[in-house]
Amino acid sequence: MKTVYQVCIPHTYRDFFDYEAETGLSPCVGARVWVPFRQQTRLGIVLAKHELEEVNLSLKAISAVIDEEPVLQDDLLALCIWIARYYQSPLSEVLPLALPKKYRLGQVCQLPMGDFYQLALPLDEAKQLISGRARKQLELVEFLGAHTEPVSKQCLTQKGFTSSQLHNLLALQAISLSQQSIVPESATVPFAPPLSLNSEQEVAVAAISEHLQQYQCFLLHGVTGSGKTEVYLQVIAKVLQQGKQVLVLVPEIGLTPQLLSRFTARYNQPIAIIHSSLNESERQVAWQLAKEKKVNIVIGTRAAVFTPMPDLGLIVIDEEHDASLKQMEGVRYSARDTALMRAHLANIPIILGSATPSLESLHNCKQNKYQLLRLHHKALSTTPLHYQLIDLRAQTLQHGLAVPTLHRIKEHLQKQNQVLVFINRRGFAPVLLCHQCGWMVDCRACDSHLTLHKQIGHMICHHCGLTQRIPEHCHHCQSKELIPVGAGTQRVHEFLSSYFPNTQVVRIDRDAVRKKNALDEHLELINRGEAQLIVGTQMLAKGHHFPRLSLVVVLDADAGLYNHDFRAVEQLGQLLTQVSGRAGRAEHAGEVLIQTHLPDHPLLNLLIQQGYDAFAEALLTTRSQAQLPPFHYLAVIRAQGKISAYVLKFLQTIKIQMQHQHLTVLGPAPAPLPRKANQYRMQLLIKSPSRKALKTSLTQLREWLTINKISNGVRWNVDVDPMDLS
Ligand code: ADP
Ligand code: ZN
Ligand code: ZN
Repeated sequence: MKTVYQVCIPHTYRDFFDYEAETGLSPCVGARVWVPFRQQTRLGIVLAKHELEEVNLSLKAISAVIDEEPVLQDDLLALCIWIARYYQSPLSEVLPLALPKKYRLGQVCQLPMGDFYQLALPLDEAKQLISGRARKQLELVEFLGAHTEPVSKQCLTQKGFTSSQLHNLLALQAISLSQQSIVPESATVPFAPPLSLNSEQEVAVAAISEHLQQYQCFLLHGVTGSGKTEVYLQVIAKVLQQGKQVLVLVPEIGLTPQLLSRFTARYNQPIAIIHSSLNESERQVAWQLAKEKKVNIVIGTRAAVFTPMPDLGLIVIDEEHDASLKQMEGVRYSARDTALMRAHLANIPIILGSATPSLESLHNCKQNKYQLLRLHHKALSTTPLHYQLIDLRAQTLQHGLAVPTLHRIKEHLQKQNQVLVFINRRGFAPVLLCHQCGWMVDCRACDSHLTLHKQIGHMICHHCGLTQRIPEHCHHCQSKELIPVGAGTQRVHEFLSSYFPNTQVVRIDRDAVRKKNALDEHLELINRGEAQLIVGTQMLAKGHHFPRLSLVVVLDADAGLYNHDFRAVEQLGQLLTQVSGRAGRAEHAGEVLIQTHLPDHPLLNLLIQQGYDAFAEALLTTRSQAQLPPFHYLAVIRAQGKISAYVLKFLQTIKIQMQHQHLTVLGPAPAPLPRKANQYRMQLLIKSPSRKALKTSLTQLREWLTINKISNGVRWNVDVDPMDLS
């Protein structure tokens, strides 16, 4: 009898390798080990072990075991295996996603330890040891006597006790000292009690509460401000009461201080926050606190779906439609769908919340896979929104703004209200054009124009990052008349600042808030009402509350309507609904202006006249007719390389391999950006009415590709359920 271990070694493009163990070693499943691998010693994770009667092969042996206990529990291993199969990635790429870097480097990590004190004697006896004059020491033993658990030194210091007092009491053996891991203090914001629910919220909370013991997905669909967060908060409270843990996922832009403070004000317990700008130590500590059940609430962005939580009782995903929940590189997993699988494996409920649910989720409700819960009304009474389309045809635009738009902005400003101008394009202008000959400043490495960033005096490629100085003359005809065409946030900001000289205008986009705290400072200005005019990108669509906002202007809706990506219209509808939700939250009547060259566009009109539900319904019909998701299943195979003929050949060969009765393979076609950073990019689009057929064929293709090395320097990847076809 021999034990054979399946060991996954990160970034080896395989799921696992077989090993035996050196005598005396017997690692458990989920533990990290050191193994010999091609002249190196590599870190591995034990996936499984088997007892075999006879092993013919001579296997290499695991040389050391790092963990006594698994670092990855069975549930997360199973989840990673599901991701690997579903998203067509080797497990050796998926497992590293589930481990903080220090773990991937083989380090043994401990939570930071600190001094903790507790009474060593019954309170009366302890008091008798203290001389009557040592009033502070008496206070200290009384304080400790009131706690059943040891109290951290940090907490005692905050209460005004000193080291020498502690020292004296230790010498008297009235108290004892121990080392324990430090858990973040629960926040000190004042407690905010649960609100009394309106009837729709009550129905929602009751429906979910009935299913706390088993898997069920709920789609909580309610306009912005309808009280979804309050529903989460009250359901979460019930789960915490049962001693279980809760995972809350939000898109990057949804993780606002306002959301966090609502959580901390409701629950008197520490919360772990996990997002992309944590450093490695912070991430590891949050991960470990959750794993050891020292925190029961985790709020995080996409990658937090891998947080180990041994007693997970509920998952909440806010803004479930948001594209940022899908990872767009490496392992292209959707955190939403992964969370659904996690809830399924753990047999617990999951809530997807949105003001503008994805078509996938709406479809799943119709199929009775999810239970739909509606919140129709805003929780705080508000005035209805008034929409208006501004027809841009034959209008002269001033830096992206039409004259009627400027008039309306002025009126709202005069009433001392706030105005949000929304434009989803950073920089000053997307194109710099020669007025004489039409030459444009293009990126050398991509098929795209450079964006003018006037303030920093540079042209930047938003695709590859290439940066160069602003040219002084045309490289073709030498004319000095180079004019910016189109508008980005900087240009609109600059123009509005000069057009309304007495109004403070703030800009919020990725460039403007790059510095630490810049976003908070800007938001403060808006919150205090000092900044009346706000120019911003998608970052503003959600979460932030603007007290006096009464007008939202959408400068350019057309990009979403012209786009060839079938999801663009859906995303436009979601975005318009979300930004509109910013207006009319306060006591001021809300108005939304949408500038467009397509004022007759049926979907746009449907959206503003009948709302998101009718819009989504119409889109579902077109998706069904066009055999697109959620009715058919999609995958994209993307390939890129330095020589375009090789890229084409590669995809043509693959296409032949993918012939299958249940598959439609479209392409090879140039990617929407055919050249990026000097790489030629092409893609195949694969459609199928059967998820299973799609999955099987892709798995077979990957196996075929590992045997037949045809890539010729071409790099490729598979994207299952692509969110973005560009
Ligand atoms: P959403 O998450 O759907 O955008 P929120 O939960 O943030 O909505 O609620 C919007 C506002 O309404 C918040 O200020 C919240 O405190 C308030 N609110 C929510 N539910 C109630 C309720 N039942 N009674 C009173 N106010 C409520
Ligand atoms: Zn020219
Ligand atoms: Zn470029």
